[in-house]
Amino acid sequence: MKKSNHKNISCEEALKRVFDYIDDHIQNTSRDEFEYHIELCRHCFDRVEFEKLLKSRLQALRYKRSSEWLRERVEDIIAEF
Ligand SMILES: [Zn+2]
Repeated sequence: MKKSNHKNISCEEALKRVFDYIDDHIQNTSRDEFEYHIELCRHCFDRVEFEKLLKSRLQALRYKRSSEWLRERVEDIIAEF
């Protein structure tokens, strides 16, 4: 099934949504665009897998993520990209 009706967002836009996606705090339209992007983009797909793994490890350590820390992570990711 093709989802060609979705626009392909940029990698930068996708990376900004990674945490919302993982935390399930993303709107349906944004989620569809995001999922469409990671279907096409190996780089962002790998990033999602990495962040999911990281999150599960942090939760295992009962690490409480502050919004400050989250913002720094997003900036790091965009800088790396
Ligand atoms: Zn991408």
